[in-house]
Amino acid sequence: MSDTRHNWTKEDILEIYNKPLMELLYEAATVHRLNHDPNVVQVSTLVSIKTGGCSEDCGYCPQAARYHTNIEGNDLMSVQQVKAQALTAKAVGSSRVCMGAAWRNVKDGEEFDEVLEMVRTINKLDMEVCCTLGMITENQAQRLAEAGLYAYNHNLDSSEAYYKEVISTRGFEDRLQTIDNVRKTNVTVCSGGIIGMGEKIEDRAGMLVALSTLNPQPESTPINALVAVKGTPLEDQQPVSIWEMVRMVATTRIVMPETQVRLSAGRTQMSQEGQAMCFFAGANSIFAGDKLLTTPNPDVNEDMKMFELLGLNPQKPFTKKVQPQTVEASESQFQSLGEKPKWTRPEHIIARNEAAKEKAKALK
Ligand code: SF4
Repeated sequence: MSDTRHNWTKEDILEIYNKPLMELLYEAATVHRLNHDPNVVQVSTLVSIKTGGCSEDCGYCPQAARYHTNIEGNDLMSVQQVKAQALTAKAVGSSRVCMGAAWRNVKDGEEFDEVLEMVRTINKLDMEVCCTLGMITENQAQRLAEAGLYAYNHNLDSSEAYYKEVISTRGFEDRLQTIDNVRKTNVTVCSGGIIGMGEKIEDRAGMLVALSTLNPQPESTPINALVAVKGTPLEDQQPVSIWEMVRMVATTRIVMPETQVRLSAGRTQMSQEGQAMCFFAGANSIFAGDKLLTTPNPDVNEDMKMFELLGLNPQKPFTKKVQPQTVEASESQFQSLGEKPKWTRPEHIIARNEAAKEKAKALK
């Protein structure tokens, strides 16, 4: 096991990111082998339990109600529907289910109680359960922990500076506050970001500074390549090259040696050779299923063929941390507090977000 540093600077990280590629790959692969089995990759399944109609203005997201995209929204799924999807995912080798809801933040009430029941149900299927529900308070994090949640996802998306160019309806500091609230429980932290939103390499390094200087570092970090969706403010962004993705994965692996690095959105744009290079550079998780929330993703059979070709094995659940115990709702120590936290709303103007909103209005 290598020593994990928590004092990375932007300069240190840029130096790593910009190394000659062969040196970068060799170093990343070495760190990877010291901390993980290089032939094991976790297969996770993302289930969109509540799609679309979101009040936020994230420039990359087709689920924001203010933009005109072809997303079909739905109300919160039932526990039985989610269980059925989890069982299908388990049958094809997934060991983790990540449930995503297009919410700004969690509100105490019936819908959150339903989500807690989903967590209990999936944990009892012996799968790792992750949720991504927006900002949460400490009490809400405790309730999720009691239900048996294994991980909470809350991405930083980009550097603090570039975050302001993508989202105006909430502040970067609130992201950190939610991560801090999760850290007060036994739930592990999943936090990463997106490349290809028009940010500079310095911003990618800035995001890795923010993540790697957390102590402890996130147990899981998704690296997404933007999938530019028509109607969103970032619809005209060009796809990132595989070389940028490989460099980002390798740099993440080096600065966060013990973290599970997840190849997330944008895999349909990558060849199998490109993905193999990412695994060599330290990626050790993929998301399975033909959709990632709302954007396309490779078919699960294709993924299994790729695993066979590369001699990779799907990771078993709870290999990094023991399975949490589920406490039933009737025995819960943490009750709904009916909290109304004041999360930040900076509401500064982002020209391209405004333009996409106006375009959507004109189309209505
Ligand atoms: S990324 Fe999440 S918070 Fe932002 S608009 Fe999409 S669903 Fe809403």
